[in-house]
Amino acid sequence: MAVPQIQLNDNHSIPQLGFGVFKVDPGVTQGVVEAALAAGYRHIDTATGYSNEAAVGAAVRASDLPRDQLFVTTKLANADHRAGDFRGAYERSLAALDLDYIDLYLIHWPMPAVEKYVAAWQEFIHFRDEGLTKSIGVSNFQIEHLDAIIAATGVVPAVNQVELHPVFQERDLRAYHDAHGIVTEAWGPLGQGRWALDSYPAIAAAAAAHGKSPAQVILRWHIQHGTVIFPKASAPAHMADNFAIFDFELAPAELAAIDALDTNQRLGGNPYTNN
Ligand code: NAD
Repeated sequence: MAVPQIQLNDNHSIPQLGFGVFKVDPGVTQGVVEAALAAGYRHIDTATGYSNEAAVGAAVRASDLPRDQLFVTTKLANADHRAGDFRGAYERSLAALDLDYIDLYLIHWPMPAVEKYVAAWQEFIHFRDEGLTKSIGVSNFQIEHLDAIIAATGVVPAVNQVELHPVFQERDLRAYHDAHGIVTEAWGPLGQGRWALDSYPAIAAAAAAHGKSPAQVILRWHIQHGTVIFPKASAPAHMADNFAIFDFELAPAELAAIDALDTNQRLGGNPYTNN
């Protein structure tokens, strides 16, 4: 079954399921992304900080797929953000990817102590208006950071990419996103291996009931909540597993049982202190 497209607030759309390449070695990234494209993925999430933009671009260029059927996200590196070199960073990303445009460009972290994220957002709006990137958004922004960029510019980010999985569900932030027309993207959708996927009975029971793996149940839970996801999987079996999530549906009680696993404790980097 086809991957759903999610409408963004700027009239572009994004495939709800993509493929993430955080910590994929630059030396193997081209092959891994080519395998992901062959498996059906059409949306790749990279970042300057992952050091594998060039390999992602090479895989995209090597594919026979029309460029407009692929969706590529990359992100402003913290060092460039700190230096205030927003345009230089964008140009280096585009050159590394060797593509004509980026589909979605994100401010990777707000780094509030640096006090430049509003200036970065103002420059991002220029990138979009100049047609360098189709869509612009942010990552790891909390409500006060979103309030600040919207108040300063009137431009609402298309997405906010944040840590989000059954153990940390970001309810307040998601309610804010829904109220403002921001699409929620989940990073670490499988918890980044920080907890065993089959360790929660709610997940294991749904997996058994549907003849699916715990990973598929978790990804399906995200999909039914309308979240955009791009799990990382170098193993071909996991890559295929994570793509096969559109042929079953979790019942309301199964969704509620996974909703109940929220601890409201983030496991990854803290947006307030990662400066
Ligand atoms: P993830 O939650 O996608 O987990 C990846 C881990 O799960 C890997 O160890 C993989 O081997 C394992 N896995 C994958 N499929 C599996 C399956 N079917 N069964 C069992 N295990 C499986 O973590 P992630 O890679 O950190 O997050 C996904 C993407 O989010 C990244 O690749 C990156 O693109 C993005 N990301 C963004 C930020 C940010 O600050 N914006 C931070 C981290 C990650």
